Amino acid sequence: MAHILLRYGEIHLKGQNQRFFLDALVRNVRESIADLGRAQVRHAFGALVGRLRKIFGVVSLSPVQVASPVLPDIAGAAVDIVGAALRVRTGIATFKVDTRRADKRFPLTSMETSREVGQTVQHRFPQLQARMDDPDLLVRIDIRDQAYLSSETIPGPGGLPYGTGGRALALISGGIDSPVASWLGARRGVTIIPVHFHSFPFTSERSKEKVLDLCRVLAGYTGPLGVWIVFFTDIQRAIQLSVPDGLRVLVLRRMMMRIADRLAEQERAAAVITGENLGQVASQTIESIAAINAVTRLLVLRPVIGVDKMEIVARAEAIGTYEISIRPYEDCCSLFVPPHPRTQPGLGEADEAERGLPISALIDAAVQRSERLTITPRWARDTLPVGS
Ligand code: ATP
Ligand code: MG
Repeated sequence: MAHILLRYGEIHLKGQNQRFFLDALVRNVRESIADLGRAQVRHAFGALVGRLRKIFGVVSLSPVQVASPVLPDIAGAAVDIVGAALRVRTGIATFKVDTRRADKRFPLTSMETSREVGQTVQHRFPQLQARMDDPDLLVRIDIRDQAYLSSETIPGPGGLPYGTGGRALALISGGIDSPVASWLGARRGVTIIPVHFHSFPFTSERSKEKVLDLCRVLAGYTGPLGVWIVFFTDIQRAIQLSVPDGLRVLVLRRMMMRIADRLAEQERAAAVITGENLGQVASQTIESIAAINAVTRLLVLRPVIGVDKMEIVARAEAIGTYEISIRPYEDCCSLFVPPHPRTQPGLGEADEAERGLPISALIDAAVQRSERLTITPRWARDTLPVGS
């Protein structure tokens, strides 16, 4: 009978609160696979692993074979595992058996167990050589209530179980950075509520679809997400009419923050996550970020503030958002970018530039015309490939 062993890391450090984090982890695991029946689990093992490897808090996982904790059974299971690995992988010439013994009542030491099992494997597969350093195949044996054997370790995302770290809005633009920032926040256990500012017809319906697709990818890690699409067109028009062009992007961002403030009340969120990153563009100098920050009472989290672009791209590829983020689209702000944006606006300058704007009326109207959608993970709609 095939099982999957999940390993968690940081939760070990949580002392008194460990139970709280473990319960959340177990709940999230259950929910992520709740729609799979037994037959599907058996036929779509790959799909199952694909879901479990996205659960925050999981450091790694392994398909395992379970044997009763007596040497002959363990050795037999090891032979099965090695045989299976030889069938699916080419180029295995060397192997090693590594044992960990949580149950010290087991009569052999870890070393003795590894040696005994290794000899059985060697006897059965004479073409293989035992090698301690860098073997082609590592058979891990965990002896607990039962013995768990695995030959494959698949990395998980790490972090803390989703839902254990408070609530934050996540401002998602459709670019590369904000989905990564949102993911990093969620990986620390923060419940995220994505917010996208949409300026139809300045930006097309496709740019909204793009953001929803990004949210579907994120939902693969978090489970269903509540997503706000804010009607931003009128605000964009108003800014165009009354704000000097060098300060328009800055004012646009400040309006986003003010709306986030308002939505956060409804969502009982105390923080907002952005993909801001120092120095990338004119609106992301220290002076500009400070001027944006000045209009909100929320805690602003900027998980990628000091991360190099190449690293953000690598992360976006790993989590699966990159391909979507690079789809061509119109950014509401790029329509605005003047030849010479102000890079070091004073706080007073932004206030001055906003003088002609009916700020609270604009915010009320935008919030009123916003919609809140529920986005489910991509897999929730996929039919699982049988036999994968
Ligand atoms: P990204 O790659 O996330 O677009 P960026 O480096 O291009 O980031 P900007 O476009 O200047 O940066 O935006 C800074 C941040 O403001 C974004 O990371 C995002 O959090 C937020 N933001 C910008 N535009 C929008 C939008 N239309 N809807 C929601 N949030 C937005
Ligand atoms: Mg952008």
